Amino acid sequence: PSKLKERKIAIMGYRSVGKSSLSIQFVEGQFVDSYDPTIENTFVKTTKVSNQEYELKLVDTAGQDEYSILPTHYDIHGYVLVYSIASPKSFEIIQIIYDKLLDMTGNVHLPIVLVGNKKDLHMDRVVTQEEGRKLADSWKAVFLEASAKQNEVTSKKCVADIFHTMLMEIEKANNPVPNP
Ligand code: GDP
Ligand code: MG
Repeated sequence: PSKLKERKIAIMGYRSVGKSSLSIQFVEGQFVDSYDPTIENTFVKTTKVSNQEYELKLVDTAGQDEYSILPTHYDIHGYVLVYSIASPKSFEIIQIIYDKLLDMTGNVHLPIVLVGNKKDLHMDRVVTQEEGRKLADSWKAVFLEASAKQNEVTSKKCVADIFHTMLMEIEKANNPVPNP
């Protein structure tokens, strides 16, 4: 069996979009309703994707506005960028975060997964799936909608899907397909 790979992922986005809720749902399998929004925590979980075992470190960032969102870690392999489908402000700000991330890293091929969270809030939806997908396409990133609250909206676990997709994107970035 291949040996354990360590990967570090940062979860970023405007306040209250559900960054901590997604992290805790993935790591502990539960939805917590009130988690201190100022705590920045690194969660650790081992998980398996296509027969490869990973030790995943999730940096749950806790910046309170778009100016204090960047993590001070320099060893991040990939970024999960989260907005809430019920918050137009959070969708606006995710673009700013992306721009800053590119500025900071100087890398246009960062492994990124864009997540529209809180998809259970049907009545409050203001950002369409199409808008989310278009933004992700413009970044050449993967787009997913999710709910930390209702992890199994269909039979598929949408939260695990985020992090497994992220790990696959990191693999792809490490092993680029050569141009023909
Ligand atoms: P953070 O500031 O981005 O870490 O956001 P939190 O994870 O602390 O979540 C902010 C608020 O949104 C909390 O009241 C959560 O219970 C709620 N929340 C998070 N994810 C979801 C979700 O998927 N659906 C719904 N309905 N509420 C959510
Ligand atoms: Mg939080």
